[in-house]
Amino acid sequence: MIPSYLNPKGIQWTVYLGETVGLPNVCDMNCPTCVDDYGALDINSSVQDLRNKRASNWKFPEDWEFQEEWKLSIKRFFSERNETIRSFVFTGRGDPLFYIPVIKAYMEVYKDLGIKGHGVINTSGSLLTRSMISSLKDFGINEIIINPLASNFNSYDKISLVKEEMEVSVEAPLIPNCRDDLFSMLPIIEDIGVKNLILSFAEIYSATGISKMRKYTGKAPEIIKQNGVSFVDDKGIGKEIKKEVLKKRYSYSAYITKANTLQ
Ligand code: SF4
Repeated sequence: MIPSYLNPKGIQWTVYLGETVGLPNVCDMNCPTCVDDYGALDINSSVQDLRNKRASNWKFPEDWEFQEEWKLSIKRFFSERNETIRSFVFTGRGDPLFYIPVIKAYMEVYKDLGIKGHGVINTSGSLLTRSMISSLKDFGINEIIINPLASNFNSYDKISLVKEEMEVSVEAPLIPNCRDDLFSMLPIIEDIGVKNLILSFAEIYSATGISKMRKYTGKAPEIIKQNGVSFVDDKGIGKEIKKEVLKKRYSYSAYITKANTLQ
């Protein structure tokens, strides 16, 4: 079954951490596909990326409060729609696990409003502990999606840890340089028992993003454009991996996405 957050018949409320809740973007990882550039004016502009620096002494601000207007927006959004497939997504250019009080507050608001949905977090998994997973479960989170590129494909222990408590999926960006790592990962995540493998086209928003990717691959990324959004050309590895998953009859489902839309 298509996961709710990818289902074209579903709707989702997405919280981009930390910028959409008035907090700085913070992340302890340094993925080649990611810079702090959601606010970039266009693909030729440069941005400053301070997320790693912030992560080294991050303390969640004690005076942070959930704004009433956010609650009203959520209420309006869901009351104007009839779709019953609903997801609550936590993602962003900051790793959501730096913002546990935000996740808790949002999940409480959905509950207060009587809105039911699938709670899902995208993360590198670096901060995950057994007790954190347990708290997230108590808040109503149903699934954690781990990006293995963040740890250079070294997060299998975290994926296994999540699997003990709740659904776990993997989302990997489609970069041709990662082809071997991606193929090596397929039987490992089968053994762990992941639910979904999401193969996402890597989005490019700024010149800083292009330059970071160039440092990683040794050459400028080949860029394709669709509906005004720029992506790294995956050179067909997404389809190759999907074929392999079918051929080996792995039990998880593989999906190729471009900007969260199924391909
Ligand atoms: S872990 Fe997520 S937020 Fe952090 S650098 Fe990687 S993709 Fe970006």
